[in-house]
Amino acid sequence: MYDNSIGWRKFLIFTKNKREKTMKQERDNQINNTMTCKKKPIVFIDMDNVIVDFQSGVDRLKDQDKQAYEGHIEDTPGLFALMDPISGAIEAIQKLRDRYELYILSTAPWDNPTAWCDKLNWVKKYFGNNETDVFYKRLIFSHHKNLCHGDYLIDDRPHKHGVDQFSGEVIHFGSEQFPGWNELVKYLMEKNREENHTHSNNKL
Ligand SMILES: [Mg+2]
Repeated sequence: MYDNSIGWRKFLIFTKNKREKTMKQERDNQINNTMTCKKKPIVFIDMDNVIVDFQSGVDRLKDQDKQAYEGHIEDTPGLFALMDPISGAIEAIQKLRDRYELYILSTAPWDNPTAWCDKLNWVKKYFGNNETDVFYKRLIFSHHKNLCHGDYLIDDRPHKHGVDQFSGEVIHFGSEQFPGWNELVKYLMEKNREENHTHSNNKL
C-alpha cells in the first residue's frame, strides 16, 4: 500500500513535468514561427555620401574637367565611376541584410547621362551581380523619394527630393546622432530586436 502511494506520487510528478516541458516547447516553437514568418522591414539607402564617397571621385578628376564643369561638377561624364565606398558601408550593409529588406534609393544628375549607368556599374562592382547579392535588381533612381513606401530611409539630405515627405522613419546620415555606419547599425539592430520582441508578445 505504502509502495503504491509513493509510486503514484512519482507518476503524478513525472506527468506534470512532462506536460510543462511540452507546453514550453510549444511556446518556443510559436515564438520561432512568428519571428520567421514576420516580414522584414524595408530600408531604402541613398548612395552619394551614404554608401559612396562623392568627394573621392571629384578628387580623381582631371584639372581640365574640373574647370569645364566648375559650379556643376556632378555633371562631369564618368565622375560616378571614380568614387570609393564610404568607410564601413559595405560591411554594415552585409550585416543589416539578414534583418532588413534593403534597397538603394538614389538620384542621378539629370544632365549627366553617364551617372545613371556609372551608378549601376558601381553597385555591381562593390556588391556583386548574382541573384543572391544584396542589391541585385534592388536599385531605384528617383527624384521623388517620397513615392517609395517602406519603413526607413537613410539619407544625408533630409530636405531634398521628397525625403521630408517619406512615410516611414528618415535616418539622417551624417547627423550628430548618426555620424557613420557604426552608430546606424547599432540603432537598426536594436530597433529590430525591439520589434521582434513586441511582435512575439502580441502573437502569444
Ligand atoms: Mg546623398
